[in-house]
Amino acid sequence: MELKSKKVTILGMGVSGRAVAGWIVSQGAQVICSDLNPLNKWPKGLAGWCDKNGVGVETKKHKVETCLSSDLIVVSPGISPDIPALEAARRSNIPVIGELALAASFWKGPLIGITGTNGKTTTTMLVDEMLKKANVPHVRAGNIGTPLSALIEEHTEETIAVLEISSFQLDYFPRTRYFSFTPPRFKTTAWLNLAPDHLDRYHDIKSYGESKAVIYDFQRPEDWAIRNMDDKELETWKDRGHARRLYFGMLLPGVPGAGLDTSLKKINVMWPDNKWEEYDLESWSPRGRHNIENLACAILISRLAGAGAGAVQSVIRSFKAAHHRLQWVVQNGGIDYYDDSKATNIASVLRALESIDQPIVLIVGGRGKGEDYASLAEATKRVRIRGAIVIGEEAKAFEKVLCNVMPVIQVRGTKNGKKTMRKAVMEATSLAEPGDAILLSPACSSFDMFKNYEERGMAFQETVRELGD
Ligand code: ADP
Repeated sequence: MELKSKKVTILGMGVSGRAVAGWIVSQGAQVICSDLNPLNKWPKGLAGWCDKNGVGVETKKHKVETCLSSDLIVVSPGISPDIPALEAARRSNIPVIGELALAASFWKGPLIGITGTNGKTTTTMLVDEMLKKANVPHVRAGNIGTPLSALIEEHTEETIAVLEISSFQLDYFPRTRYFSFTPPRFKTTAWLNLAPDHLDRYHDIKSYGESKAVIYDFQRPEDWAIRNMDDKELETWKDRGHARRLYFGMLLPGVPGAGLDTSLKKINVMWPDNKWEEYDLESWSPRGRHNIENLACAILISRLAGAGAGAVQSVIRSFKAAHHRLQWVVQNGGIDYYDDSKATNIASVLRALESIDQPIVLIVGGRGKGEDYASLAEATKRVRIRGAIVIGEEAKAFEKVLCNVMPVIQVRGTKNGKKTMRKAVMEATSLAEPGDAILLSPACSSFDMFKNYEERGMAFQETVRELGD
């Protein structure tokens, strides 16, 4: 399908909707932008841009009639595939595609796709830095940061796109046989892990995993699929796809990929032709075994994409973890404060708890995503935990599972996030003793009290920094 003169409706005018609108208009299509928000709540300047470019606007509702009169519907990842307008479109065989899937179809260079429940951003950042160090032409795009559609025009066949891909984005990769365009092709995919998350959108972990496994359908036998060997959940999809396989984790002898040694001081890479490489982790700074898994995966991706071993080793020495991901903020009164606001599921909280070698006071809670919290109570038996401060819409649910295994203090109130966070930090500080760690690792989304996880993390950081003043 060519986009010229086609009628295209875009659902959801967030960052990716806006970017894709710009690109589709430049291709000569007739575009309608649809968003549930009234025009005055659309991103600044967008309504004026639509007006200037002859782009139709639709507010308050994604209308069935609008979708049914379209040749193509482009959807933002946050929109549920079950809304009536999309169901009607599917019944009428009108193609529905996500921004990333569309942009990937039109991308001229090689594609690398990184997915998983946790660690996507960290791994993508590592690959980005390794390729930069090695002067390999590339862009970093996808789930966080710049939408790929904003970059299509300015890049050639030379530029690799390193894409962080969420399951919500993969939900809008049509099955290859229904693709109206040449389907995208991933030269390399990486699946980091799978743990319960987004169970408010998927029935169960299998359907969540199935949504991620779709990425394998966009590979050929000469491509590479990299997978975490230690994650048992991934075994369900071990035979999916045709690409050549590489692994990372505690590898058995003879398995090609990046192996962690038990001391976690080295990563040994064995390539399928039996060539070996060794990477030294003496100066690696991010905390936790999970970050070494991310690193092992990033080494494989970057080496396959053309980075030299020297460039890779140099990034291992200099890399700093992204903010709000198990980030040490400050020590005050002998207590260390960690901001792990990006931990929005139990699996990531468990990794944070395992990575801190001090008694911990945990601040947990926010808006739930359908997860069962019982595994958190069970896991806290294996670490030194002094107590928990429970906050947000899920405060009660956490209190219920944790109160039998540790002291729990509930901080009420979801109207003023900053105030609630301040109270939570105060309560945590009075429960902690010198030598302890206070860890904000909420296991929930932030939307009950904050705009996003960054705002939640900043509220925590501002409060703990004030404590020292
Ligand atoms: P994502 O982009 O997939 O959300 P991030 O790198 O932003 O991943 O990390 C999100 C959260 O998950 C942080 O709390 C981080 O400490 C934790 N995390 C990072 N890598 C992993 C991993 N491999 N396994 C489990 N948790 C992880």
